[in-house]
Amino acid sequence: MKDCYKACRLKFPRVPWASSIWCRHIHPKFSILVWKKFHDRLPTDDHLQRRGIRLASVCAHGASPSNIESIFHVFCDCLFAISLWNWLAMVFRTFPPTTICWLEIWKSIESKPFPSQLKNLWMTASLSMIYVIWYSRNKRLFDDCPVNISSRSIIVSLEKDCPS
Ligand SMILES: [Zn+2]
Repeated sequence: MKDCYKACRLKFPRVPWASSIWCRHIHPKFSILVWKKFHDRLPTDDHLQRRGIRLASVCAHGASPSNIESIFHVFCDCLFAISLWNWLAMVFRTFPPTTICWLEIWKSIESKPFPSQLKNLWMTASLSMIYVIWYSRNKRLFDDCPVNISSRSIIVSLEKDCPS
């Protein structure tokens, strides 16, 4: 059965970011979200518009009212996301990821010169932050409910979701 699966399976070249997101210290729900992002599978407004769905697009947080909601806006350009990245960088006493584009933000996250264990923690916290940004966006958009993002709630979420 295993051989049959291997023979039928489509094989693609390994992407450089795969080993960073699929590892033991990162909860799969964070990895899956980032994987979807890299494969352009997150249903942001601009994505839905490209697929022919007509809708008015605004920032879910209302923090940047003139912006069309895109992946770049949600994770990099939104004032809400920027404030969270700045907070995380402050906790780790480093600079926040650059916000030129998604790939740059990812390279900035991956290239921090931390010692091994701190790097694992940084990667986990960064992927968790991406998850928190997406969760908050969805909560605001679909439940019309602002999420109370405090440092305590993020830490509690990390402790709950990360294997010890
Ligand atoms: Zn925004």
